[in-house]
Amino acid sequence: MIHGINPVSGERLEGVPFTSAAELEQVFERARAAVLPYGKLHKDQKAQFLRQIAEELELLREEITLSGHLETALPMARMQGELTRTTTQLKMFADLVQDGSWVDARIDPALPERNPPRPDIRSMYTPLGVVGVFGASNFPLAFSVAGGDTASALAAGCPVIVKGHNAHPKTGFLAGQAISRAVQKCKLPEGVFSLIYGPDNQIGEKLVTHPAVKAIGFTGSRQGGLSLLKLAQSRPEPIPVYAEMSSINPLVVFPEAMHERPEQLAQGLFGSFTLGSGQFCTNPGLVFIPAGSQVFLDTLKTLVEGSGAHHLLTSGIQDHYLKGTQIHGQLEGVKVLASGAGEVAAQVFLVEAANWQDSLQNEVFGPSTVLCVYQDLAEVEKILHRLEGQLTATAHIADADLPALEHLLPALQNRAGRVVVNGFPTGVEVCAAMVHGGPHPATSDPRSTSVGTRAILRFTRLSCFQDLPDSLLPPELQEANPYQIARLREGKPE
Ligand code: NAP
Repeated sequence: MIHGINPVSGERLEGVPFTSAAELEQVFERARAAVLPYGKLHKDQKAQFLRQIAEELELLREEITLSGHLETALPMARMQGELTRTTTQLKMFADLVQDGSWVDARIDPALPERNPPRPDIRSMYTPLGVVGVFGASNFPLAFSVAGGDTASALAAGCPVIVKGHNAHPKTGFLAGQAISRAVQKCKLPEGVFSLIYGPDNQIGEKLVTHPAVKAIGFTGSRQGGLSLLKLAQSRPEPIPVYAEMSSINPLVVFPEAMHERPEQLAQGLFGSFTLGSGQFCTNPGLVFIPAGSQVFLDTLKTLVEGSGAHHLLTSGIQDHYLKGTQIHGQLEGVKVLASGAGEVAAQVFLVEAANWQDSLQNEVFGPSTVLCVYQDLAEVEKILHRLEGQLTATAHIADADLPALEHLLPALQNRAGRVVVNGFPTGVEVCAAMVHGGPHPATSDPRSTSVGTRAILRFTRLSCFQDLPDSLLPPELQEANPYQIARLREGKPE
């Protein structure tokens, strides 16, 4: 059995069983058997299945949010919001699948008169096969068992095997029950969804190396993501790993913005880097401020020094946080501007841009941030170019800062998947245009996003059919267009 531990009281919570070796083999066999029937399911039935999962999760709302709260110490309001986000995400993919046009169907009909004659060529995105999913500890619902990776893989037509996170086993188990109920109610093959648990990394390694598995979705630590990526690439048949990993999300406060609203900026930053005890992959962990920002510094110091103790998700994350903040504080030229109360306290570090050291960009997962004081935006540009890839980069500007932002924008865009202006990066809207990705090590594949409708493309491959009889083509490519989807004919909308 694996038991969650309440991070506040240390209490051992109700456990869930580990998956035995024999059960694991059956999981792979069932998933393999579900590939073809589920892959060719009618789009309306697939959409109905995704909506049914959302409905089953709603039925468990009280139980699942309470379990999440107890296992993670994240507030009940956050758990409620995260469940809503999870069901919204499933419904977004249901709408996408029902519309059907996402498969990007392209038709170039035969040109028998041409010299040489052109055959009939049709192509579209098709499901990749069984997908293995690893969720992160900090989003026990939205990036976990029924989260974005699972929703997008199921939407693509792929059976899913989730490796449950040991930091919130019961919450994951309940979400898994909701999905399994939806599988039964929609009369789908049992292997469309499975949830597995193991005492250590071995079960995850088996998931990545099993020949039935054709892609991995991972959200978690850089170390975990990179080891799974290496494992997947060393298989006889290497497979893609879409790993969403670490990011410090640089934020630049431009001079006029700082002059105009120093207190508001300090309050906004405090709210953002302490949200969820700083356990967000979009936490602003590096903030550039102009020299002489005294009102901002004083306001932030007061807020941080008045803040109480935090409870982090696991003892491992707590150990990393305490070690990471200690290392930052001991670096030459780095000062502690302010600390909150308790063993796990919010912390703000201060460094002059002239004293910048690359080790300051190591993610310290928790309620801390580094303020980097610049004399001139050229210093910021230089440091931005040295940063690793990020999920987000943010600019706070006033109207008079616009030309300066125009100059810095290429550096911000070059380093991050999403550029934010006059906001804080911690919120990630679930919508069609969202990109939650970025260059390494924010993700293992900068061409992808794990949030938004484009996340579906990660679990597909392109299939092309040349001169296939119409009746054997997938409905999306048949001449009569039975699904009535948007398609390209001769490169133009039909
Ligand atoms: P984690 O420790 O890497 O765990 C994630 C999952 O992967 C767990 O199920 C874990 O198994 C498994 N795992 C990790 N290393 C493995 C290995 N070598 N072999 C097999 N399985 C392995 O991550 P976490 O602590 O839960 O999450 C916190 C981190 O996630 C932070 O760094 C944060 O920035 C990042 N994060 C990123 C995003 C994003 O979208 N980029 C979103 C949220 C969080 P066990 O359960 O057995 O440990």
